[in-house]
Amino acid sequence: TGKLLEVKDLHVSFFTPAGEVKAVGGISYDLNYDEVMGIVGESGSGKSVEAYSIIGLLQSPGKVIGGSITLEGEDVLAKSKEEMIALRGSKVAMIFQNPMTCLNPVYTIGNQLIEALKAHDKKVSKEEAAKRAMEMLEMVGINNVQKRMKQYPHELSGGMRQRVMIAMGLICHPQLLIADEPTTALDVTIQAQILELMKDLQKKTHMGIIFITHNLGVVAEICDKVSVMYAGKMVEQGPVDDIFYKPGHPYTMGLLRSMPRVDAESYERLIPIEGTPVDMLNPPEGCPFAPRCEYAMKICLQKMPPYIELGENHRAACWLRVQDQLQGKKQDAAEQ
Ligand code: SF4
Ligand code: MG
Repeated sequence: TGKLLEVKDLHVSFFTPAGEVKAVGGISYDLNYDEVMGIVGESGSGKSVEAYSIIGLLQSPGKVIGGSITLEGEDVLAKSKEEMIALRGSKVAMIFQNPMTCLNPVYTIGNQLIEALKAHDKKVSKEEAAKRAMEMLEMVGINNVQKRMKQYPHELSGGMRQRVMIAMGLICHPQLLIADEPTTALDVTIQAQILELMKDLQKKTHMGIIFITHNLGVVAEICDKVSVMYAGKMVEQGPVDDIFYKPGHPYTMGLLRSMPRVDAESYERLIPIEGTPVDMLNPPEGCPFAPRCEYAMKICLQKMPPYIELGENHRAACWLRVQDQLQGKKQDAAEQ
């Protein structure tokens, strides 16, 4: 344990011809070694943008305009492009929904793993690198590794490619793994296997993982804590049990209602959250969720709610919770 990553009041904007899009509007969290944090939200909520900022993969016209990112005590935002590349080859790895964003179709699996390792560790011999590549493939549950080393990505199944990508990510032993919807494209059984695998690897390596997903089922499966994002804001944050059993924000409650149940039958009967996501070019004043919130009050349209502590490491930004707190205080006063 111990602190691995600290993100403080991070702001990221995209400067588009149509105007500034505040994709991430001031989010903060800590991640320890050995910890898995889920970042949950709809597409466009800023969850990927936030994670890409950590590893310097933010694409133009995106720009970090405020806040700080500290990884193992080092200021990430002060690093040069070259230093960021080195960081991604060593301390931080990322895996994506589409393995082909990481795998090169014209090189064999073995070749790519060996190159990834050699880029990180210039002194390693080819034989040693091949040996470690095969060990890594075995570790991610691939059989017949001798044969797999000589194959090209297109010769593997989707689930197998995903495993290879994970092997690529982990071969340099990162302290931090960022996983952006890595199982979304897979069928349910393979998805479960990959999650199981990631949990296992996490226990063995003690790395911290940021798991980006829109699927709360995945969160329940693998995460210790959760940050819920809406329209670039962190609307709720807490230990996974608190998020599931004591959600404090109406958006989190909506996500929970729309979560596919474990029994396969109910898959079609999701209750979607009504209304459309925020127009990020013209976000509403006040609480960004107000246009879709069944509890919205007048103040919600006027002012962004502050964070209210709901429990240990559990907080939400919602005026309802502010009211609860005020009422609690009144009651305390009355009882005294
Ligand atoms: Fe709904 Fe108001 Fe809470 Fe926003 S602050 S989630 S609009 S009740
Ligand atoms: Mg995304």
